[in-house]
Amino acid sequence: MADCIFCKIANGEIPSEFLYEDDYVVVIKDINPMAKVHLLVLTKEHICCANMFDERNSIYAAKAFEAVAKVTKKLGIDEAGYRVINNCGEDGGQTVKHVHFHILGGQKLSVDMA
Ligand code: 5GP
Ligand code: ZN
Repeated sequence: MADCIFCKIANGEIPSEFLYEDDYVVVIKDINPMAKVHLLVLTKEHICCANMFDERNSIYAAKAFEAVAKVTKKLGIDEAGYRVINNCGEDGGQTVKHVHFHILGGQKLSVDMA
């Protein structure tokens, strides 16, 4: 997708620090952190939102959660715990229309939502 910022980050067109990378996903730090640790898992294929996962591309969702397990271990927050969030569509508050999973942690998180 030509004008998608997360495509540009995931394919290296916009240089970014990758905390983790494999053939399917990259993990970056969120530019506007909402917790001590706030990472984003981005798919390397442009998938606009969670609604678009199907039999053909569900490997990206599986790989995203593999990345969650690996990167949280690497950062040492796996035992304490963390939250994984996917915002989908207008009501979900999705602002970047390229599917991504937030990892929030490094502190005790509020239980108000999710
Ligand atoms: P959404 O609201 O779509 O679930 O989340 C989008 C997230 O992407 C927000 O938390 C926002 O701070 C983050 N973000 C938007 N643009 C950029 C960027 O260019 N670089 C990084 N690292 N994060 C971004
Ligand atoms: Zn994209």
